[in-house]
Amino acid sequence: MSRFWSPIVHKLTPYTPGEQPKIANLIKLNTNECPYPPSPKVLEAIRAATNGDLRLYPDPDSTALRQAIADYYNIGRDHVFVGNGSDEILAFAFQALLNQNGPLVYPDITYSFYPVYCQLNGITAQTVPLKDDFSLDLETIPNDAGAVIFPNPNAPTGQCVSLDAISHLCRRMPDQVIVVDEAYVDFGAETAVPLIKDFPNLLVVQTFSKSRALAGLRVGFAIGQPELLAGLERVKNSFNSYPVDRLASAGAIAAIKDRAGFGHDCQRIIESRQWLTAELAALGFEVVPSRANFVFVRHPKHDAGELALALRNRAILVRHFRLPRIDQHLRITIGTREECDALVKALTEIL
Ligand code: PMP
Repeated sequence: MSRFWSPIVHKLTPYTPGEQPKIANLIKLNTNECPYPPSPKVLEAIRAATNGDLRLYPDPDSTALRQAIADYYNIGRDHVFVGNGSDEILAFAFQALLNQNGPLVYPDITYSFYPVYCQLNGITAQTVPLKDDFSLDLETIPNDAGAVIFPNPNAPTGQCVSLDAISHLCRRMPDQVIVVDEAYVDFGAETAVPLIKDFPNLLVVQTFSKSRALAGLRVGFAIGQPELLAGLERVKNSFNSYPVDRLASAGAIAAIKDRAGFGHDCQRIIESRQWLTAELAALGFEVVPSRANFVFVRHPKHDAGELALALRNRAILVRHFRLPRIDQHLRITIGTREECDALVKALTEIL
């Protein structure tokens, strides 16, 4: 606490990111990073961009990067907005689109940054409970919501909703903005990008941090109709005109163009997830069916906090949230097969 802080800062409960400790030979399964390095083409592109041009500001409109994303999805460049990680785009969306007269509605178990953005922006939140199996029924979202946001697949549960259900929601609430946070969509869920042509109220947000192995580069993007994106643009240009730097832009363009490498890594992660799901179930864990690059598990006979600590003592990090309904669960990122194997061995010993 400091007397120098603005009043709002006293009341904030900031988001706590998963730890990034410097422990030797750590198996890091706590922040849903990709276990494989980015495409060699990405590293090459960043090296090529590491030159004297760094004295110049980057393109404030990120035209080349937006075009590359537009080409990937077969849409117009005016339907793409980019930012410094999808967290930044979400922050803009909370300010530009989600601060409405009615409450912002999101699931009771979800990405824990949403309540923080609400606090920061003075937005009233209203949660809808996930069912007991952690599935999200979009029909439970009330018509009088001011706006809606949810991740698909949801985090930290890994469950997803269908495109039909999203279409139905967008049609049922034509005057409210619906943000679908697709940070984990490439690991087996269906993207809502094709729906944006039908729904001017839909914003789809994605990231290069997970499936494209570039968490360290900080690039995210949003897809929506130009009018919606213009709202984000206004906030962006009132905050930082150059959020995506030259190296990040070069790397991200190379990443989205490397379709083959991308598909291969996603497939490997999906296969490891299937393997790990079966192994954990054999150890007695209840595993929530996941379409993401993590699994959400609970052991009926062992305390989740104690399990996380025992794993940490073996240099394996997983994520444990001390939150209502899920304090007996662990979220475990899908690592390489060797890392998944080491996790199963460690858990076998601990149990
Ligand atoms: N949305 C969800 C659901 C996430 O889990 C994350 C990662 N913590 C993000 C968005 C933000 O990812 P990034 O800022 O790295 O793009």
